[in-house]
Amino acid sequence: MPALEQLEVEFTKAWADPGFHQELDDLLRDFVGRPTPVYRAARLSDRLGIDLYLKREDLAHTGAHKINNTMGQALLTKRMGKRRVIAETGAGQHGVATATACALLGQECVVYMGEKDIERQALNVHRMRMLGTEVRPVTSGAGTLKDAVSAAMRDWVSSVDGTHYIIGSVVGPHPFPWMVRELQKVIGEELLEQMDGSSPHRPVPDVIVACVGGGSNAMGVFYPYAGSGVDLVGVEAAGFGLESGHHGASLVAGSPGVIHGSMTYLLQDDQGQILEAHSISAGLDYPGVGPEHSYFKDHGMVRYVSITDEEAVEAVHLLASIEGIIPALESAHALAWITKEAKSLEGKTVVLNLSGRGDKDVQQIVDAE
Ligand SMILES: *Cc1c(COP(=O)(O)O)cnc(C)c1O
Repeated sequence: MPALEQLEVEFTKAWADPGFHQELDDLLRDFVGRPTPVYRAARLSDRLGIDLYLKREDLAHTGAHKINNTMGQALLTKRMGKRRVIAETGAGQHGVATATACALLGQECVVYMGEKDIERQALNVHRMRMLGTEVRPVTSGAGTLKDAVSAAMRDWVSSVDGTHYIIGSVVGPHPFPWMVRELQKVIGEELLEQMDGSSPHRPVPDVIVACVGGGSNAMGVFYPYAGSGVDLVGVEAAGFGLESGHHGASLVAGSPGVIHGSMTYLLQDDQGQILEAHSISAGLDYPGVGPEHSYFKDHGMVRYVSITDEEAVEAVHLLASIEGIIPALESAHALAWITKEAKSLEGKTVVLNLSGRGDKDVQQIVDAE
């Protein structure tokens, strides 16, 4: 608790300081490449009978939205006078984004990663090491993301004086879900300006669709639109199918409980033990979800739906072959929902938050075929 209380005070101060925003905004512009473009997918629009736009988070440095969060928290670490950063990672995307920010700012970085994930995601392990980060294998539990989060939290409890823990999504105990949302909402704020209705090329969206793992890219694009009347749709991983029991759909098919310091929808058995999630996309393979998404669900502010592994892979091929963009498997879940629902979306202006690029997934997709 003292670590969390200190963090709440420090982030509140930093977030109210124009100097902090100036430094962060400069890095987001010059190092990360923000604002990311909005691109009208013309051929796919014609094919689907909708007006489809892509918010190109895949073009951000390191290939996904995660850097928006790690850059902000690494700057906060510097401001707090701490020199060491720890993080957890599943597929390695958050680990790479953290390692990148730490290399830039000269911070020592340790990333906890399940030993099973280390095997599955060798390329990202090499990337982190090249960026000067120590990757620490986690052997407890199933050796995946949930265990890596627990290991990072254990490290932090005993090292908090000189160490900051950069969590990778809008999950965990307060103030993390709030802080990560604040750092990711730049996505939706840019979109409000980019699609402000000022010309036929910049229509105001009717629908915004994003994939939901922990929920940070979705929260980033939804939050500035919450309560605005725009139809917001969050797409979870249905894995092998909801009825198979092997999925990552906490909001669609889970129930309320407590995980990693939040009360939220999650996957659990009737004893309250957390179940293993399954998704073909490592970024959606988490048995919980950010607590604010639970709030949005309970208040009917966002619709939550799910898409299977198979449907997501099909959507990767679709976008690659007719738009020249290979999306991350995570982001492909959101696209798959749009293609499935094209009839009910006919004539509407739809924005897909393209959370990341799919280079990291090419080998996995080829192997699965
Ligand atoms: C990590 C990741 C996700 C899932 O995380 P959220 O916190 O739900 O955004 C989605 N897309 C990509 C490309 C990712 O790397």
